[in-house]
Amino acid sequence: MAKYPTKKFDCWQLAKEMQRKTFEGVMTAREQGKILIAGSSGFQGCFLTGLAGADGFAFLSSEAYGGMLSANTELQKECIREVERRGYSPDLCSYMRNYWGSAFLNRSPWGEFPHADLYVQPAICDTHAKWTTTMAEYHGIPCFVIDVTEAMDFDKQGGHHKQYFIDQGLELIEWLEKHTGKEFDDERFIESVVNHQITSDLWAEICEMNKAVPCPMDQKSQYSLSNAIIREHHSPGAVRFMTLLRDEMKDRVAQGIAAVGNESCRLIHDNCPAWYALHIFRYMEKYGVVCVGGHYGMAFTSSWAYTEDGRLKAIKTVGYPGWQRPSNWEVALRVLVSGGGGGALLPDAGRKFTLGVARDWNINGALFHLNRGCEGWSRGRMEIIYALREMGLPTSTYEGSTGDMKDWNEAQVLNRIDSFMESLDLSRLED
Ligand code: SF4
Repeated sequence: MAKYPTKKFDCWQLAKEMQRKTFEGVMTAREQGKILIAGSSGFQGCFLTGLAGADGFAFLSSEAYGGMLSANTELQKECIREVERRGYSPDLCSYMRNYWGSAFLNRSPWGEFPHADLYVQPAICDTHAKWTTTMAEYHGIPCFVIDVTEAMDFDKQGGHHKQYFIDQGLELIEWLEKHTGKEFDDERFIESVVNHQITSDLWAEICEMNKAVPCPMDQKSQYSLSNAIIREHHSPGAVRFMTLLRDEMKDRVAQGIAAVGNESCRLIHDNCPAWYALHIFRYMEKYGVVCVGGHYGMAFTSSWAYTEDGRLKAIKTVGYPGWQRPSNWEVALRVLVSGGGGGALLPDAGRKFTLGVARDWNINGALFHLNRGCEGWSRGRMEIIYALREMGLPTSTYEGSTGDMKDWNEAQVLNRIDSFMESLDLSRLED
């Protein structure tokens, strides 16, 4: 008999339905007379809502699309082949190659590739700008790239970072008005910024509840349930979903409901997973392992801060006692760039964040995906491994790619996991 009770998430079906609706909205944007805007996930949804209202556009989140293709194994292989046939290097971002291949082949899982009208891209990772400009040139459409790299490290933001972002935000508003013929509405923008911050606050609060023993949400579920914040973080629907999920998590913690009934070892899984091989998480569960979180998954679109002694804690960036709603677009932009950030892609931000999780999430070790398909989340990983070992935590690695199956060797990965489990003194609980 299992040590702890388990239960499926009540809101799982709703998460799936939201995902279906988002991609349906993208595929039918043209026939609905909507503007289709593409770019990696970020804050640009707030600008687009300010421009055209929540129903006036459809947003194709290029990284979510590239990731979704990663799990579509047959199409993925064809996309990757097509990109390499055109002379692009196989060591480029695998999401980007999946996306490009799908565009070049003019094929998606649901018919023709959904060609965007405009690209709006926050350049958080080195790949982002090139991804977008290449596609904009290919399709002959306009493209706007916002440089935000430094400002994504919430622990290092200075006044100049914020001003730089605000200046670019103003340029973007003018650019969007020019290319769409629509007028920007401050009020709609402010509302979407507030929504964006609420979902970010809720996601950090949810991830923080994974400190509980037993762990209420395994990392594989975390990847799926965070989709709402990746694709539509600025929408009222995302706020409703995250509120439901937060309440369900509270309930799970109060009732001692576990993600893995025989939880006996808690690991950090680092880096984006190989989406076509999520079964490795089930494989580890047979050893009583639950992966509770990590930098990727917890650190984007989420509100965190460090206490004076370096502890990671979820914070409220809006709605706290004394908080005032932004009075105009510029104040809203300041909220957007100040609000907790995500400490996402800079290596030292990743180290600090991961050490914070290792310290307070009752962690027994960490498993690192040495991900050839994503340079952004792979930066500085060896230094993080070193720092965790200095804390006395066992670590291991496996090689793969988040979106290119050519870089995956199943037998080798399972062998690495088996050896790591053995070193942690774990044995398989069932077959
Ligand atoms: S390298 Fe990674 S972080 Fe950068 S665009 Fe690709 S998937 Fe995103």
